[in-house]
Amino acid sequence: MYLIIFDVDGTLLDSQNTIVHGFEAAFAAVGLPVPGRKTILSIVGRSLDMAFADLVGPEHQDKVPEMAAVYRAEKIARRKAGLDQDPLYPGAREAIDRLHAREDVLLGIATGKALRGVHHMMDVHDLHGRFITIQTADTSPSKPHPDMIERALSETGADPEQTVMIGDTGFDMAMARAGGVHAIGVTWGYHDHSQLTADGAERIIHRFDELDQALIELLKMEKETV
Ligand SMILES: [Mg+2]
Repeated sequence: MYLIIFDVDGTLLDSQNTIVHGFEAAFAAVGLPVPGRKTILSIVGRSLDMAFADLVGPEHQDKVPEMAAVYRAEKIARRKAGLDQDPLYPGAREAIDRLHAREDVLLGIATGKALRGVHHMMDVHDLHGRFITIQTADTSPSKPHPDMIERALSETGADPEQTVMIGDTGFDMAMARAGGVHAIGVTWGYHDHSQLTADGAERIIHRFDELDQALIELLKMEKETV
């Protein structure tokens, strides 16, 4: 049995507009200058508190809880208004459906998002029932701590040698290796991907249709016509 775990933001879901909007609202609420888009996106993938703590610097740590609260409130408001409809990356749905159809594959999620955000993505893109294990910021410490990997392995009983984490950041790769599982880096996300290999990626893919070949090579997964 193979366990294939996906990161969400920057890997399955192109959520950059929603994320940048939320950070802009949070900085405005506490009267601090808003960092550039690139700086904001460089921090995506960590938990919200850690992301704000890194961005505001040591002198404004007291503002972090309020900023995180504003970010969450803004996201919920946008969701309710129907504005938060981030698209999946090209090929993501096909890859999920193709892998989900195999009897020897389990799918999982490990994300810095809250569970509520994961459910919203599943509502918008009709993905309920595809992922057997879902690890989020609600119950685990921020990546690269291996807790999410450990929980996914224990929930599924999967063999670490037949498990892979797929993500767009060095945090994903470092988490995978700390958790003793394989790591595939993707280059369509928000981070500088020149460091993915140094952070532990064993394969790098540039498009979703390269995923199957990477899985065959890395997990010794059998080719299957489904
Ligand atoms: Mg990501």
